[in-house]
Amino acid sequence: MNTHHHSTVPSDPELRVKALESLLVEKGLVDPKTLDELVDLYETKIGPRNGAKVVAKAWKDPEFKKYLLEKPTDAIASIGYRGRQGEHMRVVENTADIHNIVVCTLCSCYPWPVLGLPPVWYKSAPYRSRVVSDPRSVLEEFGTQLAEDVEIRVWDSTSEMRYFVLPEAPADFQNKSLDELESMVTRNSMIGVEKIKEPENRS
Ligand code: FE
Repeated sequence: MNTHHHSTVPSDPELRVKALESLLVEKGLVDPKTLDELVDLYETKIGPRNGAKVVAKAWKDPEFKKYLLEKPTDAIASIGYRGRQGEHMRVVENTADIHNIVVCTLCSCYPWPVLGLPPVWYKSAPYRSRVVSDPRSVLEEFGTQLAEDVEIRVWDSTSEMRYFVLPEAPADFQNKSLDELESMVTRNSMIGVEKIKEPENRS
């Protein structure tokens, strides 16, 4: 039995969306540039801000972090993020010794309520295969260098289990406000291809 069930988005709805999009553009009702901007907004701005709130709260509030790791779907819903493609979440925590990365090897399963829409590279065949066979070099391409002794774990998201990375908190997180922390959490850090960037040394 195949236990790897992915979002069974049949090609039919996808084709319908494409058809509608072409029609709207053809009739001059929408500008394709506006559509691209909207998609970008959900990919990089609106979507991942939810996840950033979850992460910052987990760093600051140990009780919430415990809840998040034990019952991720409930914990995330408790601060208002729920819905399609977020029903079965699992949160994996990055530490000094373990670095987690998320992929969907077969399609593009992704935790929508906390991350929005998946970026194009996440859906690309090279990412999907190479992150499994050679995660270290994929990380390097994202500018992420890990020490040799850091264990890398790659998680394959499916429609039944969607992984979400809790990045390692910045060194001085205790001295930062929730807002400051939130603004440091990038989408890529919650997919696991980047770490949280420490602010430049102010000397
Ligand atoms: Fe999938």
